[in-house]
Amino acid sequence: MTPRSITILGATGSVGASTLDLVRRSPKSWRVVALTANCSAAELAKLAREFNAECAVVAEESCLPGLRDALADSGIEAAGGNQALCEAATRPADIVVAAIVGCAGLAPTMAAIEQGRTIALANKEALVSAGEVMTAAVARNGATLLPVDSEHNAIFQCLAGNDIADVARITLTASGGPLRTKTLAELAATTPAEAVAHPNWDMGAKISVDSATMMNKGLEFIEAHHLFPVGLDRLAIVVHPQSVIHSMVEYRDGSTLAQLGPSDMRVPIASCLAHPARMDTPMAPLDLATIGELSFFAPDEERFPATKLARNAANAGGATPAILNAANEVAVAAFLAGKIGFTDITVTVAETLERLSLTPPTTLDAVLAVDAEARACAETALETYA
Ligand code: NAD
Ligand code: MG
Repeated sequence: MTPRSITILGATGSVGASTLDLVRRSPKSWRVVALTANCSAAELAKLAREFNAECAVVAEESCLPGLRDALADSGIEAAGGNQALCEAATRPADIVVAAIVGCAGLAPTMAAIEQGRTIALANKEALVSAGEVMTAAVARNGATLLPVDSEHNAIFQCLAGNDIADVARITLTASGGPLRTKTLAELAATTPAEAVAHPNWDMGAKISVDSATMMNKGLEFIEAHHLFPVGLDRLAIVVHPQSVIHSMVEYRDGSTLAQLGPSDMRVPIASCLAHPARMDTPMAPLDLATIGELSFFAPDEERFPATKLARNAANAGGATPAILNAANEVAVAAFLAGKIGFTDITVTVAETLERLSLTPPTTLDAVLAVDAEARACAETALETYA
């Protein structure tokens, strides 16, 4: 069997590690083209050597000397900077896993799309910010987006073999995060350590905070709107604390299809890597008798206003989702740095959305300009709380 070639953008992160774990389990099936990281040169070099990658790239140019040293005599190319990141993303590969966190992943993901590649997309912020700019580029270049995000992967699986015109409703499930049962006063006093301690999923810090504010579900709502164009009024969110059902698709005849699985990202990643076939994963099968009960609740948008902000941003369209995403990235970083409180995150996002009104971007550069302007505006808004 000829090995398939794979590039992983964001190889040192949580999704990157889960992907490499699957590759490690069947090394003969894969040839690693490029692995990238922001700055962790030693860690990236170790992975590049283990998987005998063609090249390793750090986005931070100042981290390149460290990467070069760590890869000396390995025969593996080392490169640094955003242009090198985009170049790595365009190298021929059967699949490109987009697992960078934040809008920082947009340019390299778009570079892979321009080459018509198959992209396993974890980097939801890129799709939220670029929206139609990205989906139009996918269509124009004959690229394929396979959703890694567990909810969207579930929906993708539930849509297979069906006509999207027959969909009555798509329901995204949300765990509700680690703060699901907290009062508003308790939420305001939440520390970064409490916010990142997710009950069901082990993830990077940014998405863990998003999960706690439920902005993750808000971003996923916008992500779903672009991946599965059924109309915003056919997209719903239900809180399901056990994270066993990863999402559902309801058809006009009354049938609802759901995808269930362990809360382990290796399941949706494997579904993308093997698509349209299936591959083995090491997870224990789902034991429903032990799980016992599945419960469902309507989201509480008073305590968790992020889903409302995101739904409004999706309805507004244009530059608004990119502004929402950028403000959220800035606010989450400020919260993690101890500069603002937990509930200040969504207040900052709302404030930035109120202050800014920008022309709808129609190119990648225009999206990046909106992102930059919204970040600057959010930084100013933050000063109220810092
Ligand atoms: P993470 O923080 O664990 O890893 C992020 C990766 O991106 C790292 O390799 C890091 O070096 C790289 N990176 C960070 N900033 C960068 C920059 N400015 N330029 C280039 N590279 C940069 O994040 P994660 O939890 O793996 O999440 C990655 C993406 O996948 C996010 O968009 C997240 O929303 C999405 N996602 C994650 C999970 C999960 O379980 N972790 C689930 C669904 C979706
Ligand atoms: Mg998700």
